[in-house]
Amino acid sequence: MASQPFDFFQQMRRGFGQILDSAASDGEAETTALAGRAFGWFESNIAQHGRELEPLACARGCPTCCALRVTATAPEIFTIADYVRKVSATPQGARLALAKRILATDARTRGMAPEDRLASGIACPILFEGVCVLHPVRTLACRGHAAYVAAQCQGAARGEDVTVELSEPHHTLRALVQNALQAALRDKGLAWGLYELNHALALALEDTTRREAWLAGEDSLAPAAVDEADLAALAALFDAMPAPA
Ligand code: SF4
Repeated sequence: MASQPFDFFQQMRRGFGQILDSAASDGEAETTALAGRAFGWFESNIAQHGRELEPLACARGCPTCCALRVTATAPEIFTIADYVRKVSATPQGARLALAKRILATDARTRGMAPEDRLASGIACPILFEGVCVLHPVRTLACRGHAAYVAAQCQGAARGEDVTVELSEPHHTLRALVQNALQAALRDKGLAWGLYELNHALALALEDTTRREAWLAGEDSLAPAAVDEADLAALAALFDAMPAPA
């Protein structure tokens, strides 16, 4: 973890702001750059401190937590939607029918509370044969959910009253990166809330004009917005910090 969380936060906020200020060639380049920077910051910091971290139970092919409700920012949503389109354009990817699976799952899970979503056991449609097909662009929320004991995750997935010990460094880093991105989006007058992954992806895939609308300041993913983040409290926190130079 960065030794100075406040400085790290402001550095990221400034970096995201610079991407938004730069004249990106198009909307796709802009949202890809934002999400890529967020994912890169998360991964490089985790890698930097890897030796200090306790070993995790999480491993490729373990899909136990992929029935949790996932939330993400708009740049992450648009980037994942782009990835779905690109994967689906390849012969191998077309067989996965990802867009169809996302729409079908959305029809079953839309509006579910997090606890109902987990209890339903409905897996993320991006999961295929136990593997996350979009692993390189998975959300900050997915990256930040890291557990130490697989049996605890499995018990929770079965609905047992069990405490799942999660990695605090992963959780904190996810919050820092995500909040810095949200602060930068807010600084530029863009919708900066969180959206339920599946429904937001369905919206972005069905109507490709939503990205340009979002970049123009419209909350074009609003039907998928979730209220778990206390945006007013977060806004007050951002306002209490000096704006990055
Ligand atoms: S995006 Fe990938 S890692 Fe995240 S819940 Fe879906 S399958 Fe799991």
